[in-house]
Amino acid sequence: MSIQSVADLRREFLGKPLDLHIGGRWVPSCSGARFDIVDPSSGEPFATVADGGAADIDLAVQAARAAFENGPWRSMPPSERARLLWKLADAVERDGDHLALIETLNTGKPLRVARAFDVHLAVESIRYNSGWATKLGGVTHPMSQAGEWHAFTVREPVGVAGQIVTFNVPLTMAANKMSAALAAGCTVVLKPAEQTPLTAIRLGQLAEMVGFPPGVINIVFGRGKETGVALVEHPDVDKVSFTGSTAVGKAVLAAAGGNLKRVTLELGGKSPVVILPDADIERAMDAATMGVFGNSGQVCAAGSRLLVHGSIYDRVVEGIARRAGMLKVRPGLDPECDIGPVISSAQVQRVLGYIDGARRDGAELVCGGRRPDRPGYFIEPAVLAGTRPDMAVVREEIFGPVACVMPFDDCDPDAIARLANDSVFGLSASIWTRDIGLAHRLARRIKAGSVKVNASAALDFGLPFGGQKQSGWGRENGREGVEEYTELKSVAVCL
Ligand code: NAD
Repeated sequence: MSIQSVADLRREFLGKPLDLHIGGRWVPSCSGARFDIVDPSSGEPFATVADGGAADIDLAVQAARAAFENGPWRSMPPSERARLLWKLADAVERDGDHLALIETLNTGKPLRVARAFDVHLAVESIRYNSGWATKLGGVTHPMSQAGEWHAFTVREPVGVAGQIVTFNVPLTMAANKMSAALAAGCTVVLKPAEQTPLTAIRLGQLAEMVGFPPGVINIVFGRGKETGVALVEHPDVDKVSFTGSTAVGKAVLAAAGGNLKRVTLELGGKSPVVILPDADIERAMDAATMGVFGNSGQVCAAGSRLLVHGSIYDRVVEGIARRAGMLKVRPGLDPECDIGPVISSAQVQRVLGYIDGARRDGAELVCGGRRPDRPGYFIEPAVLAGTRPDMAVVREEIFGPVACVMPFDDCDPDAIARLANDSVFGLSASIWTRDIGLAHRLARRIKAGSVKVNASAALDFGLPFGGQKQSGWGRENGREGVEEYTELKSVAVCL
């Protein structure tokens, strides 16, 4: 398929039935229902996909179970699984322009970001995880019990993995989650976010083309309350890996209890960015601006709470507001676009509601926070100064382009950490300083799954990522991320 333009995409991809992928076949849903996919840059529907329900989830889980228990996947040498994953990464890379175009149409993000970031990271994640297929061994253990023993541990795939993802980086997240599970030897039922199912379809097509056996990868679209719940509650799913909001994560945890599924939760955040007076302030401001407004603020680890030393506070507020004002808020297909729309009209109202509430609570809107005069779900990036830790805009995750800036005066690491930790979330944090000792003291004290020093993002698939506190359970990436899809068994042989 050669896709050069949106017209090609409409003809070659969107113009064909966009169905569920179950047991190696592309099928409509049992009910025959379909739902619309909306372009957030225009607010107009531009595709329909099959609307899967509980019956479709059941078929997908049966297919994944059959492929796990009886199919070639489990008996395939790990090196073969690795090779197939690597082939999938190559296919995604070759299809990159096409995938980026689909992602931009579906999410509204800038096309160059979809190409350089989303597609690139999808490829990298699959390549990284493929390497673990051949390395998930156990250890031997010296037994103290009388007799002669050979005791050892083995890592076995947990079984059928149900994977639920959100809308902000749909391709990267699906590729990363699926490849980790597949490297461990699991089979997968993926439920993409209802807003952004399209790149998952293309990923499924590419997996089929490179030779993944039927039933190893199943994809069912639908809404959270029906399709997501059916997957999480299904008694034949062994593990759920969920990425989404903290509120839904808690519901997932409760619903997974029926058969005590293994559960990994990648949830929300309200991540602090601490800027100290000795930092490279210009660099910190550049990074903090994109760290909070990149992807229209729809990033779990967005640095949305800026804690800035009082001596540089005015300069940083002014500098970040100036940078925010220069970002071009446009449809993702516009080559000049820096910031696309947010995902939905409901999300626009939610973001504007938080900004209004903050102003009523006494915060100052320094820039942005308005809807540009055009269709679509656009919001100009907003900088709120004079925010306080008790405000809803500071305590709650917005998942939109809103930066809250707060001053602090005490450079004692315990005092700074108290401010940074004043949140139910603990996903990520950034520290900007040239004082390496202070940086390490803060990194120890801040409760977050990831701490970055003099950087706003440090994404590497070898580095475990996940949340402390209400930002989640378990880790993705690294050995730990793949091991989340395994059970550890010990075997003791009395010789
Ligand atoms: P959401 O929780 O509303 O939905 C996420 C997914 O869960 C969707 O596929 C949805 O259909 C499904 N879902 C909804 N209700 C469900 C239920 N009861 N049972 C099972 N599935 C259900 O989240 P959202 O608004 O789409 O995404 C934004 C959230 O995701 C933010 O909180 C953000 O921080 C978080 N997120 C976290 C990470 C991370 O790695 N920690 C990454 C990206 C996004």
